[in-house]
Amino acid sequence: MNRKIALIRGDGIGPEIMDQALLALDAAAKKFGHTFTYAEAPMGGSAIDAFGVPLPDSSLKTCLDCDSTLLSAIGGPKWDSIDPQLRPEKGLLALRAGMKLYANLRPAKLIPQLKDASPLRSDIVDRGIDFIVVRELIGGAYFGEHKTWSENGEQAASDLMAYQEHEIRRIVKVGFDTAMKRGKRLCSVDKANVLDSSKLWRKVVNEVAKDYPQVEVRHMYVDNCAMQLVKDPSQFDVIVTENLFGDILSDEASQITGSIGMIPSSSMGEGTRGLYEPIHGSAPDIAGQDKANPIGMILAAAMMLRYSLDMPAEAEAIEKAVSTALEDGLRTPDIWVEGMTAVGCAGMGQAIAQRI
Ligand code: NAD
Repeated sequence: MNRKIALIRGDGIGPEIMDQALLALDAAAKKFGHTFTYAEAPMGGSAIDAFGVPLPDSSLKTCLDCDSTLLSAIGGPKWDSIDPQLRPEKGLLALRAGMKLYANLRPAKLIPQLKDASPLRSDIVDRGIDFIVVRELIGGAYFGEHKTWSENGEQAASDLMAYQEHEIRRIVKVGFDTAMKRGKRLCSVDKANVLDSSKLWRKVVNEVAKDYPQVEVRHMYVDNCAMQLVKDPSQFDVIVTENLFGDILSDEASQITGSIGMIPSSSMGEGTRGLYEPIHGSAPDIAGQDKANPIGMILAAAMMLRYSLDMPAEAEAIEKAVSTALEDGLRTPDIWVEGMTAVGCAGMGQAIAQRI
């Protein structure tokens, strides 16, 4: 198959880790007989430097023209003090809006070779951690009306958390579809004992559930979910939730698996096109020093193959190569421990590509 992939190489460690993801993609293409063509789409700080804006129209068009987009990370101190409307992260928000990406999928999977990196007790970790958080991305409190006003001599503020049925339905369907591709267990997280938006959420989940009889559904309040994630994360397969709850729970979920450099994420809209990226930032403190861990970026490329390009075997080949490289004792500085073989960003990338 021929597939066209947009590349946002980004800032800081972005270009170094992107190079390693491309090595892995090219190795998978060679093994399975595909051709991947890449189109550059500058965004973030490097786009501000070259074009004066964080997301040039041409970059958005490139992303919309391609089958999917890979993003490393953007931003850095160089652009911290510029006009807030022109900051690198504005480019990311505009890209999500322009690509109409309403679903964020973030896997939380503990790689057995790195179980000591988890802050949880070993008897909890030994039960396994392998679930995915499906978060609504463009609705709820972050996008509702924000107000600050004066009342009785003091300030008051409010943020409106509003959802329409269709916004809930489409993300809940992503949750069910994801569960169908995994262990067929869905946990919907809300606060339906207090919030009207959550009551509507729960009603829609129960309606959509009728179309997915094979999926086992349960509802959980968000406060309980935050607790269960550290008590027994092995109970989860797919968690689906609204924007604010998902923001908090997905960060909690990534922490319990260990290193920030190892976790991918995807943002999806209608159709199969998505935006795939590692969860970390541009790590300016280690940029250009061959110290970055490229695994989150490489696993983001694998996720893209599975969810956007319908290439599950190719995705698995990359994921297995990552596990084998770790089994063989290779470690970048962020995950290195005594007795392991130290490699840099490029060394890890090459080692993974060779194992595909
Ligand atoms: P960060 O994730 O870039 O770095 C936090 C810490 O983790 C640093 O010590 C860094 O060296 C380390 N780290 C991150 N990724 C790593 C990797 N792959 N391998 C090894 N170590 C890694 O977060 P930050 O320092 O808060 O932000 C730096 C810049 O990134 C800021 O400009 C911020 O706005 C931006 N940022 C961008 C995104 C994005 O592009 N989606 C996300 C978060 C932050």
